[in-house]
Amino acid sequence: MNIVLFGKPGAGKGTQAPLLAEQLAVPTLATGDVLRAAVREGTPLGLEAKAAMERGDLVPDSVILGIMKETLAQPAYRTGVILDGVVRTVPQAEGLDRLMRELGRRVDAVLCFDIDNDEIVERLSGRMVCGKCQHPHSGGEPGAPCTAPGCDGTLVRRKDDEPDAIRNRLAVYEAQTAPVLDWYRSKGTRIAMVDAVGDVDAVTQRARIALEG
Ligand code: AMP
Repeated sequence: MNIVLFGKPGAGKGTQAPLLAEQLAVPTLATGDVLRAAVREGTPLGLEAKAAMERGDLVPDSVILGIMKETLAQPAYRTGVILDGVVRTVPQAEGLDRLMRELGRRVDAVLCFDIDNDEIVERLSGRMVCGKCQHPHSGGEPGAPCTAPGCDGTLVRRKDDEPDAIRNRLAVYEAQTAPVLDWYRSKGTRIAMVDAVGDVDAVTQRARIALEG
């Protein structure tokens, strides 16, 4: 099963992806995580992506398509993938389509998390991550201790969760990412809509129902 998780930044794709992955027994590919790890490690990929990420802009499509090409051919991804944070532009959708065809596969469904902008701004400005293990926390203050088991790190706010970057990410979403849904519609790909507001488990449950429906 190959699923694209779709929605505004902060809609909860990154929270839902591992939960759905466990329940559906399909691995995730989160391009944001791949890029953040590259930035931390200072690899050429990280150096190329860092500035755009901090502004809340998109990194070039060629970079994203390179990550997908390298990852999706790996044996672990043969049974399927839950794509978290890709596809964000129409050229990425076209590139993924080509890649899937080369692998004899296709995108089975686009799972679209529906949420309005006010809720997004509130969520993202309250979101923290551990500076050490990267575990996400919804709330807390910068410098507070990480609550992940066995971690002694402290919480930080992602640079792209600062208010200016959030506004930019929402504008980028409207201009470049929202048209992707129409692209999939025009191709006849199944689009499963999910109300993304509410309790994490309730959203997972709704997502499962939407995927099965
Ligand atoms: P995310 O964790 O998915 O919100 O991604 C964090 C940042 O990584 C984004 O704001 C972009 O700068 C970059 N990024 C992640 N995935 C993509 C993508 N598919 N296309 C372009 N940029 C991306």
